[in-house]
Amino acid sequence: MKHYDSIVVGSGISGLTIARLLAMNGQKVLIIEKGGNIGGSMARFYKNGVPFDTGFHFTGAFLKNGILNDMLIVLGIQDTIKPIVLPDENGQIYVFENDNKKYFLPNGVANFVKELKKYFPEETRGIDDFFSLAKKIYNETSSLDLSRITEAPRVLDEDDISLQEILDKTMKDGHLKGILSTFSMCYGVKPSEVSVANHFRVAYGMYDSVVRIKNGGKAFIDAFNEDFIKLGIEVKTNCTIDKFLDIEKNIIKKFILSDGETLSCDQCIFTIHPKAVVESLPEGHLSKAFLSRINDFEPAAGFFTVYGTIESDDPDFVPSIVSILPSQDINVLLEPTNNGCSALVLMTSYEKVQGKIVKVLTAMEPSFTEQVAEWIDSKVGRRPGSYYAYKENKIEQIKQRIYRYNPAYKDSYKIMGAASILTYRDYLNSFECTAYGIKQKMGQFNLFGKLPLKNIYACGQSSVLPGVVGAMMSSFIIARSIVGRDEYDAFIKTRLNK
Ligand SMILES: Cc1cc2nc3c(=O)[nH]c(=O)nc-3n(C[C@H](O)[C@H](O)[C@H](O)COP(=O)(O)OP(=O)(O)OC[C@H]3O[C@@H](n4cnc5c(N)ncnc54)[C@H](O)[C@@H]3O)c2cc1C
Repeated sequence: MKHYDSIVVGSGISGLTIARLLAMNGQKVLIIEKGGNIGGSMARFYKNGVPFDTGFHFTGAFLKNGILNDMLIVLGIQDTIKPIVLPDENGQIYVFENDNKKYFLPNGVANFVKELKKYFPEETRGIDDFFSLAKKIYNETSSLDLSRITEAPRVLDEDDISLQEILDKTMKDGHLKGILSTFSMCYGVKPSEVSVANHFRVAYGMYDSVVRIKNGGKAFIDAFNEDFIKLGIEVKTNCTIDKFLDIEKNIIKKFILSDGETLSCDQCIFTIHPKAVVESLPEGHLSKAFLSRINDFEPAAGFFTVYGTIESDDPDFVPSIVSILPSQDINVLLEPTNNGCSALVLMTSYEKVQGKIVKVLTAMEPSFTEQVAEWIDSKVGRRPGSYYAYKENKIEQIKQRIYRYNPAYKDSYKIMGAASILTYRDYLNSFECTAYGIKQKMGQFNLFGKLPLKNIYACGQSSVLPGVVGAMMSSFIIARSIVGRDEYDAFIKTRLNK
């Protein structure tokens, strides 16, 4: 029977990160992936050779000393992950559909704030208060600094105050509140449900700089893949854990895999959705209270996405993120039972295909299981006609909104595909169709760290913070628990040259 120091379940960015960190610290590691390929939501897909992103379009925290930049340095892959910074001018555009008001905002907190004050001079004080709170929270959050991260970070007062409460306290203008809460789409929780602390932990790095990555999530997957052999990381795809055997004193000694192999390991780290973790674990070892806590987790938003290219020589085409908002109140737009239009985020980018530059436009609208309840049990390739009618209808609605935003796209936007939350669920194995795992609401204890079964750990996007940065951070924290605090501190110090 083969023995590993660690078995990592799931090969999304969280699984890849923890596997690499443990291997870099001398561990023998096996990754087990349910799908046919590694990478989870970092995967790209191709239509006529044009690459499209699934679960990784842009990120923040990339600038010097940003947590993502530091994580890449520690992992030794910073040279292969190349940022494409959105243009300083007009990188972010906000359009309110109800009154056709448009706001063009630049990258960088200082420039962003300066421009906001020009649009909303009467709100100068509120804007200053909002961003000084953002900075304070960002600086006081230990998990945003790799040399200070711990499994039990200091809880801030702002962890118990909602984003909505702070918006209502600091400003009056609905457009301004809408702009400042639009990044809620980047974790899929309403401003009234998310703590202002978590909002800023995700959003502040994006106010500072929004970047796309050259080759998208594939750049990450390739970088990790390249060193598997050198680091001795083994990978099994199309594989899950079937059974746990020899459980003594809440320690699992043997693991039987779906391919029939029996293994032992010192610890097993789950990087999948908390409810999927609980479904995988043997019954009778988790208390009712524990199970009920996990069962109460609600899904964060997912997305309906339309993928296409712009077939024109439009000289005004630049990489940008355009948020088209039918309402100033983002709470309404992230309400699963909202029957009206939701937000629509347009992301434009350049991709190189066989030496030629292609202009890509991806349009994403928040979506929830309530909207696809009728087809929830269907599987990709075997769905009824009514589902395809729903999809066609949605594509048409989104197309019309894109044309209203930019009539020139009417002649040049060529749609090449669309994905509903069921498509993502079936291709990415995303439990409950969500893009960001569980809704990380105020006052909630997520599933993170060592579980009641003592050699089993949980991390991933539902643990600390959602998104790629949050998923990676959770892996750093668990790596620290496993390799030991002193070893981890020395490792980080050496890698960051601090
Ligand atoms: C449409 C969409 C758009 C998004 N856009 C962005 C964005 O622009 N920026 C950003 O930062 N984040 C974005 N996200 C969120 C981001 O993709 C995730 O937060 C992050 O990739 C999650 O990483 P993870 O490793 O925790 O989980 P995942 O990527 O979900 O990886 C989990 C892996 O585990 C595997 N698995 C599942 N069950 C089992 C099992 N039982 N056994 C073995 N393996 C299993 C899955 O196949 C998968 O490979 C988006 C997500 C979606 C869906």
